[in-house]
Amino acid sequence: MILGKYSFGAGDRFGHQGKAQLEAVMQAAERGVDITPVWNKSNREHTIIGTRPADVRREADDAVAACGWEGAYFVDADHIGLGNVDEFIESSDFFTLDVADFIAKSSAQTEVKAFVEKYAKYVGSLAVGGLEETFEISADLIRAAAGKFLLAVKEAGKTYRHIEAIKGEGNFITEISMDETDHPQTPIEMLFILAAVADEGIPAQTIAPNFSGRFNKGVDYVGAVEEFAKEFEQDLAIVAFAVEEFGLPAGLKLSVHSGSDKFSIYGCINKALRKFNAGVHVKTAGTTWLEELIGLAMAGGNGLDIARSVYRKALLRIGELCGPDATGIEIDTTKLPSAEGGDEGGGQRFAAALRPNQACEHYNPDFRQLLHVGYKVAAEMGRAFTDALVEYQDIIGQNVTENIYERHIKPVFVGDSIL
Ligand SMILES: [Zn+2]
Repeated sequence: MILGKYSFGAGDRFGHQGKAQLEAVMQAAERGVDITPVWNKSNREHTIIGTRPADVRREADDAVAACGWEGAYFVDADHIGLGNVDEFIESSDFFTLDVADFIAKSSAQTEVKAFVEKYAKYVGSLAVGGLEETFEISADLIRAAAGKFLLAVKEAGKTYRHIEAIKGEGNFITEISMDETDHPQTPIEMLFILAAVADEGIPAQTIAPNFSGRFNKGVDYVGAVEEFAKEFEQDLAIVAFAVEEFGLPAGLKLSVHSGSDKFSIYGCINKALRKFNAGVHVKTAGTTWLEELIGLAMAGGNGLDIARSVYRKALLRIGELCGPDATGIEIDTTKLPSAEGGDEGGGQRFAAALRPNQACEHYNPDFRQLLHVGYKVAAEMGRAFTDALVEYQDIIGQNVTENIYERHIKPVFVGDSIL
């Protein structure tokens, strides 16, 4: 199986928006941009919502049948490891091997030494196609990279071989993710990570590094955009170089785990993709769940009551809700509306506070971040929440499609500016 040049991973916490998500990809196809849709869900999301991997497969298959989609599509077991992959193996054909926990854990000295010797030929100045600058590489740098990442890549190898033994070679897409860590990877570290990936025999088609800057959940990028742009171009150049050098799959590309809404860097991602004629996988998760809340609020009546109730409960449980996502959450609690404040104004006002439109004076990124992780509250409401999704599906679906197409697909893949 080969993942297309452009692919877009959408998460759908409650599994009701498969069609609305696919419609956004179909809008891109109508404009001549081919994107492979991927449905991703992590073990953590399944545990919180109470769904199973087979539910995601069913959602994807149903959406594809209902929309008459004839292209490829995948179901991504997102952020799995050896300990929890088994439950995903049957229903998934895309596996994101999360080895972030193994970064900076000590690798065996003999393995590090062998790695440094094997790649000693890169010591010196390295020029990479497409970049003006060169990289200075020392044996110490290679040793440090091996010490930091070799164990993680070996863990990815174990998980890959476990899946391969069951599904068979070539029957699934492999992604390696190192994004959920406090250790950003430099482009030159990525070169040696990819060397190790090749040594492990992992046919990775995507790799998700931790870029510098902050990728907080549900809000825009925090960091210097020009530096990100430079680093992203260097990463693209390194990936292309590593494919040639190490014989990795020809379509290997970066995967950007956006945590949703990294609008300020979408423009430079698009520019870099064009410059390097490169592909990319963009992965989002919570953005669709927030559109469900926006749609419910806009619907008014019972829909708005439910949206408000989710906020009130989330506010009471802020510490608990932010816990599992601690690396990607920075909420200024002084900027959150009080429980009663969340009730002020009508549904349009609630929607405006949540909708990520920087130009709108009512937009409140702290409110948005809290609700981004607040899906646990909605999950606990059970049928009261999911029945409302069904009742107000028309307005919710419109918001889901428009959000994915206008705010994400268009700026990254089509290249137009956002709303
Ligand atoms: Zn991630």
